[in-house]
Amino acid sequence: MLIFWLKRVKYPMQGIILNIVKVKEEDLIVTLLTKKRLKTLYRFYGARHSQINLGYKIDFIPVYSTKSTLPMLREVLHLGFPWQFDRDKVYIWQQFIKLLYKHLKDIDELDEFYFLLLEKIIKKLKKQNPKRVIIEAYLELLEFEGRLHDDFHCFICENFIEEKVVLKRSFLVAHDRCLIGKKFDKAIMIELFKEKSTLLFDDEEVETLWEILQEGL
Ligand SMILES: [Zn+2]
Repeated sequence: MLIFWLKRVKYPMQGIILNIVKVKEEDLIVTLLTKKRLKTLYRFYGARHSQINLGYKIDFIPVYSTKSTLPMLREVLHLGFPWQFDRDKVYIWQQFIKLLYKHLKDIDELDEFYFLLLEKIIKKLKKQNPKRVIIEAYLELLEFEGRLHDDFHCFICENFIEEKVVLKRSFLVAHDRCLIGKKFDKAIMIELFKEKSTLLFDDEEVETLWEILQEGL
């Protein structure tokens, strides 16, 4: 009897919306990042539905049916952020969400690192500068994926970098003689890579890091 009861209970899951595609009429295909995977669901249009948007964190119930290959997205509850009316923060958050979707879209099963990283960003955005928060989180992502080049070998000539560092997409490091771009002191780059902190960077330098990040994760 107890087993029967348990089977019937529908447990909500949590996810962060990484992508929304409009299909016929007002129906949507929604891709969510949950703790363990990217989950794609179908949402029928209906007046009673609450509005959803890119980057929202939601509670939801996936409803499976033999009629459809995708589960239905049901019983959506928007879990708001304290900064959700700060347009600047929302815009920067959504830019990162789009980049993250491109980065993860072909992977089904994921380490919970990604979901936890987004939760950490959500929390930090309450008090901190959004571009700095995202750059610092991105450094954690690079380290997690084994792509943080903290040995400071130039990706072009492969020799050690002594002084100035020029960054390329994915924060690849190069000599200023090998690559044209904004030069950073190596000392602050070491701090950035080691501590995952932008504290030693001024706003203009943060802007450069942000532009490089936007080229793709
Ligand atoms: Zn070089």
